[in-house]
Amino acid sequence: MKKIFLILLVTVLCFPIFGCGTSRLLQVSKTLSNYEISIDYNDENKSITNTQSVDYVNNSDAILTQICFHLYPTAFKEGAVNKPVSELNTAKAYPNGVSFSNINITRTKLNGKDISPTYEGEDDNILVVQLSERLFPTQRACIYFEYTVALPNILHRFGYGDNTVNLANFYPVACVYENGNWETSPYHCNGDPFYSEMANYKVIINYPLTLTLASTGNQKTTTGSNSKCTSIVARAVRDFACVLSDKFQVISKKENNIIFSYYYFDDETPNTALQCAIDSINTFSNLFMDYPYESYSIVKADFLHGGMEYPNLVYISSDIINYDDYLNVIVHETAHQWWYNLVGNNEFKNPWQDESMTEFCTMLFYDYNKNYNLNRKDMTNAAYENYLFFLSIYKDILGSVDTRMNKSINEYNTDPEYTYMVYVKGVLMYDSLYQLIGKNAFVRALKKYAQSYCYKNVSPEHLIACFENASNANLESFFTAWLDGKVIIN
Ligand SMILES: [Zn+2]
Repeated sequence: MKKIFLILLVTVLCFPIFGCGTSRLLQVSKTLSNYEISIDYNDENKSITNTQSVDYVNNSDAILTQICFHLYPTAFKEGAVNKPVSELNTAKAYPNGVSFSNINITRTKLNGKDISPTYEGEDDNILVVQLSERLFPTQRACIYFEYTVALPNILHRFGYGDNTVNLANFYPVACVYENGNWETSPYHCNGDPFYSEMANYKVIINYPLTLTLASTGNQKTTTGSNSKCTSIVARAVRDFACVLSDKFQVISKKENNIIFSYYYFDDETPNTALQCAIDSINTFSNLFMDYPYESYSIVKADFLHGGMEYPNLVYISSDIINYDDYLNVIVHETAHQWWYNLVGNNEFKNPWQDESMTEFCTMLFYDYNKNYNLNRKDMTNAAYENYLFFLSIYKDILGSVDTRMNKSINEYNTDPEYTYMVYVKGVLMYDSLYQLIGKNAFVRALKKYAQSYCYKNVSPEHLIACFENASNANLESFFTAWLDGKVIIN
C-alpha cells in the first residue's frame, strides 16, 4: 500500500530485459495449491455469489490435522472488533455513511463430503476445516465452499465507490502454517494485514455488459446477450483481485512479452501513466529479477489511500491530484510486485521488511529514470525533514514517541505513527544502509534476495543475510539499532 505524505520533488532509461522467467514459474506452479472460483456479480445489489474449490497442498514440513482460512470480509461487518479503517479515516472511507458487509458461507465440503466448519477469531474471521485424515507434507486435500458476499459502500480494497467495484480479499484464503502454528492475524486498519502462500487461480466471473473488468492473471472474455463472462488463469501468485467499472477506458501495450494495461477514467495523459508502469517493471526486472508474468495492469480506483498492490494488478487512487504523486504511486505499487508478491513475508508482523523496502526502491527508481520530475536525494532529504517534523509534533503532544519498527502493525498506536515509522523512518534506514555498503552491494543483495526466495515466504533474517553476504559485513547491530528505535535521528 502507498500512503501519500511526502512533498515530492526528477529523472530514464530503458534497460535491456532478461529473458522472462516463465519456465521457472511453470515449474513452481505444479507444487502449489489450486483455487478455482466461480463468481456471479450482481450489480444491482452489489453482491457476489461464489463457488470455490481449493486443491490445498501441505507445503509445510508438519503433519496437518486442520486447515485454516482467512475470511477478510468479516472485518467489514457491523460491530467488527478489527475494523478496516481507523476512526481518523472513517469519514473519508465512507463518503455516503458507514456501510457494512459480511461473508455468508452456505456450504462446505471436504474431499467431496459435506462438513460443518468452525469459526475462530474475534470476528469469526478464521474458518477452520478439521481434516478427516492427517495431511502429510506434499499431500493434498480438496475443500469446497459456496458463499455469498454483500459488498460495503467503502472506498477500500474491498467495496465499491461511485466509479469502481473493488473485489479483493473477498474469498476464503488459506492461512500460512509455519513454526508449528497457523498465522491467523486478523484484518487491521494500519498497513496491509495479509500473509499468504503462492497459489494458482482459475476464476470465472459473470458480470453485466456495461462493465469492464481488470484482474490478476490472463483473461479471456466472451460476450453474451445480457452479460459478459471472463475466464482468468493466474499461476504462482499470492492473491487474486479484480476491479469492475462502467467508466473504464483501457489502453494496452505489449512489451517484452508482457501486456501492460491501464484502466482509467479522468486522465488526460493516460499514456504517461502506462509508460510509468512499463518503466517501473523494466527497471525492477533489471535490478532484481525478471517479472515472470504475462500481464501487468494499473487500475484507477476508488480507494482511500494512495494505492494498493495485488499480483499483476495495482490500485491507484482516483483521489491523487498531483500527477507526479500519481506516477510515484505507480512506481511504488510496481515495486511491490517483487517485495510482497514474488518474495513474500509476514506483512502483519514485519511490515518494514516489504513496505519500507518498497518505499526505498521507489526512490531508487528515479536514479535510473532521470526524465521523471523526482529524484532519490530530494526524496530522502524530504523524508528526513518529515521525520523530524513528525517527532517534534508528536513529542509535544504525547511527551514521547515510540520509534521502534520491529513490531506488528497492530502494535502501532496511531495511523501517523505507523506511516512515519514504516514509510519514512524505513526509508531513512534503507538509505543509511545504501550509503554504508554502497550501491553495488545494495543492489547485489536485493538481486540475491529476489532470485533466492521468489515464490517463497521469508523472515527478516533472510533479508539481513543477503545484505551481509553482499557487503561482507556484519550488519546485525545496524538492523538491531534501527529496528529497536535506538538510532537517534536529529
Ligand atoms: Zn506499499
